[in-house]
Amino acid sequence: MDVTEVDCTTPNAARIYDYDLGGEHNFAADRAASEEIQRTVAPTGPFIARANRAFLQRAVRFCLDQGIDQFLDLGSGIPTVGNVHEIAQDRQPGARVLYVDVEPVAVATTRHLLEGNDHAGVVHADVRDPDAVLDSPEAASLLDFSRPVALLTVAVLHYITPQEQTRMHRYREVLAPGSAVVISTLTADERAEEAERVERFFAENADTQVTFRTRDEVLALFDGTELVSPGVVWTPQWRPDPADPAGWEPHRAGCWAGVGLVRE
Ligand code: SAM
Repeated sequence: MDVTEVDCTTPNAARIYDYDLGGEHNFAADRAASEEIQRTVAPTGPFIARANRAFLQRAVRFCLDQGIDQFLDLGSGIPTVGNVHEIAQDRQPGARVLYVDVEPVAVATTRHLLEGNDHAGVVHADVRDPDAVLDSPEAASLLDFSRPVALLTVAVLHYITPQEQTRMHRYREVLAPGSAVVISTLTADERAEEAERVERFFAENADTQVTFRTRDEVLALFDGTELVSPGVVWTPQWRPDPADPAGWEPHRAGCWAGVGLVRE
């Protein structure tokens, strides 16, 4: 599929998120959906997006501090300022980044943004199909799985059911010792009513459905890794930085987040 086949009349999660982050790659239906979500479903919508994005950026810097210079970003989204490759290559010009997304606008804009960048690429694939990602020519040319890789699954697992996720074990199997697993995902913990409204809104209006995970379920996602301090916490609480978005209590950011390191 290319960008000319995009359905711009049905709100799409990637483009709603882009709008919430202040991006420009969204359509009227996405903007209307975002406004509607803020008005009637979850007033914190943009805060959830910004707190999550800030977590992603801090986690990438943490991985760089561990000496990791390769990133596999599953469900990478529409590029807005402060993408993974910008952060990584700013500090490590040779850092390698492979983006993966299923949304055509996200892939087309990422491809455009990466023109001339030999150390970053994008694969148009469904992350539930690890073979399509890991056996792609882009993965072969960019990533060396005999060395540590940061596996980023940030704000994407809530579009994947636990059952579907069982098909994704290969991503973890290919990680060398020293690799990192970075996760954030939406939860209904401490916001059951709001989460129910979000779930219903997506079911009725969007082309993607949402699955919430409890903190215990998120903790289980780190099995086989060494969970780094402060563990699984709300996105704004993971190694906060003074530059982070503020204004709401941490749990209103709606996502649990954590980083685990793969040991021998
Ligand atoms: N990871 C980025 C971040 O945290 O800033 C973007 C998160 S955005 C909320 C979620 C992205 O996951 C969207 O771009 C969406 O298209 C993508 N996505 C959802 N389900 C997917 C799937 N099954 N395969 C690939 N990408 C998917």
